[in-house]
Amino acid sequence: MRGLMQERPLLISSFLTFAATYHQDREIVSRLVEGSLHRYTYAQAEERARRVANVLKGLGAKFGDVIGTLAWNTHRHLEVWYGTSGSGLVCHTINPRLFPEQIAYIVNHADDKVLFIDLTFVPLVEKFADKLKGVRHFVILTDRAHMPQTSLPDALCYEELVAQASPNFAWPDFDENTASSLCYTSGTTGNPKGVLYSHRSTAIHSMVANNADAFGLRSVDAVLPVVPMFHANAWSIPYGAPMAGAKLVMPGAALDGASVYNLLETEGVTMTAAVPTIWLMLLQYLEKEEKTLSTLKRVVIGGSAAPRSMIDTFQEKYGVSVCHAWGMTEMSPLGTLGTLKAGMDTWPKEKRLDVQCKQGRAVFGVDLKITDDDGKELPRDGKAFGHLMVRGPWIANAYLKGEGGNILDENGYFDTGDVATLDPEGFMQITDRAKDVIKSGGEWISSIDLENAAVGHPSVAEAAVIGIVHPKWDERPLLIVVRKAGKDISREEMLDFLVGKIAKWWMPDDVVFVDELPHTATGKLLKTKLREDFKDYTLP
Ligand code: ADP
Repeated sequence: MRGLMQERPLLISSFLTFAATYHQDREIVSRLVEGSLHRYTYAQAEERARRVANVLKGLGAKFGDVIGTLAWNTHRHLEVWYGTSGSGLVCHTINPRLFPEQIAYIVNHADDKVLFIDLTFVPLVEKFADKLKGVRHFVILTDRAHMPQTSLPDALCYEELVAQASPNFAWPDFDENTASSLCYTSGTTGNPKGVLYSHRSTAIHSMVANNADAFGLRSVDAVLPVVPMFHANAWSIPYGAPMAGAKLVMPGAALDGASVYNLLETEGVTMTAAVPTIWLMLLQYLEKEEKTLSTLKRVVIGGSAAPRSMIDTFQEKYGVSVCHAWGMTEMSPLGTLGTLKAGMDTWPKEKRLDVQCKQGRAVFGVDLKITDDDGKELPRDGKAFGHLMVRGPWIANAYLKGEGGNILDENGYFDTGDVATLDPEGFMQITDRAKDVIKSGGEWISSIDLENAAVGHPSVAEAAVIGIVHPKWDERPLLIVVRKAGKDISREEMLDFLVGKIAKWWMPDDVVFVDELPHTATGKLLKTKLREDFKDYTLP
C-alpha cells in the first residue's frame, strides 16, 4: 500500500524561496573580488536568482544544460548556483586551482554551455578558451566599470545582464531526482571524474547537515563558509544557511588569516568551516597579532585530518568548540562528524581530545563499514583497520558518463579509498589514504598520525610523511618538515619530540626540512608529487 502523503518534490529552488519568505531581511554579506564588502538580503538574492534564470533562458540554455562557474564564494556565485539549479539546469562548480589542461578537460567533458567567471580567473580561462568545444557564452561576474580587457570572445557583463533581465520567473516543479549540480574530484590519479548531485540528494544532505549534532545551523547563526563553493559545494553551507535562515558571510578571494579574522569579527560570525590549512593561517595570525575571537562558537574542520594541537588551541585558547568532519566529493560531502556523545564533555581533556582527533561518527543516513582486502567486514573495535566503505542516499552511484565503471560493491557500498578504524562508540578514524599508507615489514604505518604528531611541535608549521623504499622493511617513513617563520628545530630535536607520542617502530628513519610542501587544488598535501621528488632519496 502506498502512503497517502503529498509527493511534493524536494527542489533546490525551495531553499532560497523559503529564506526569501520567512527570513527575507536576513543578510548575505560578501567580500567582492573587486575589494569592497557587499550586503543585501535573502529576498534580494532570490529576486536576482530569478533574473539569472531569465538571463540563462535568454542565452539559449535548455532544461538539463550544464552551466559552469569559476568563482569564489560571493553573492553573485550564489545567485548563479540557485538560478541554474532552480530552473532545471545543472550548476557545475569548477575548481580553479586545477591545472589549466584539467579545467579545459572538465569543461569539455561536462559539456558546459555557459561559463560564469570571476575577474580573478579571466586570465586563466583565456589560456584555454580556444580548446573549449561547447561553451557558447562567457559571462564575467562583475559590473561594467570593472569589465576587463579580455580575449574571451564576446565576454558579457554579469551585472548588466542581471539588470536587464526580468524578475518574472516562476521556479518550475520537476522530478526531484533531476540532476542539480556537478563537481569533479580533484583527480590525483587519472582524469578528474564528475559527481552529479540531484535535487533530492542535495535536499536530504543539507537537512541532515543542519542537524544539531552536525553543523547545527539556526536562524540566529551567522555562518562563514571559507571552504569554497567549488570544493564539494562548500560542504552544503550555502544550501543549509537559507534553509535555517542563518546570516551568510561569503569571503570572496581573501582567505588569509587577517581577512578571515576581520570577517569573523565584524560580521559576528558564530560558525565557520574550512580545511586545516586555512585554520593554520588564522591561528598564526591570532597568535602574532594577539587577537581573540569574540563571537565565534563553532568551527568545522575537514578535508584533511585536523591536528590535535589545532583542536586544542581553538578550544582552550579561544573558547571555540571544534567539530572534526570527514567526507568527500562523492558524498555531497558529509559522512561523519565529531560532536561528542552524552557524558564525553566531562571526560579529562586528553581523553576528549583523543575522540575529537578521530574523524567523527556517521550522521543518520550514512552506513559505514570497514573491510579487509577480500571484502570481509572487520570488527568495530577501534583497532582493526581496513577499507572504509559507505552507502547512503547522498552518495554517488556512478561517475558522470560511467567513468571508472561500476563503483559499488555487491551490497551497494562505495569504496572511499580511505583506510580507517571504527570504535564501539561509532567514531571512525582515518588511518590513511589506501595509497599513502606506509607498509613496513608487513605492517601498516599511518602517515597521518605521524604528521599530526610532528605538527604538535611549536616550531613546526607543516609536516608530511611518505614511505621510502627500504631493502629490509619494504618501506620506512621519511618526515618532511616546514619550520614556522623565524623558528628553528633540528633533526634530533624533531625525533626526540616524537618519542612517546608514536609507536617505537613508527619512528621516521629521517627528517628533512623544506621551505614549502606541495598541495592539491583543495589544499591537501600532494603526496604523489612528494613521492616523485623523493624517489631517489636514500635513508641513513
Ligand atoms: P579532493 O581530493 O577534491 O579534495 P575530496 O574533498 O572529495 O576531494 O577528498 C576526500 C578525501 O579527503 C577523503 O576521502 C579523505 O581521504 C580526505 N579527508 C576528508 N576529510 C578528512 C579528515 N577529516 N581527516 C582526514 N582525511 C580527510
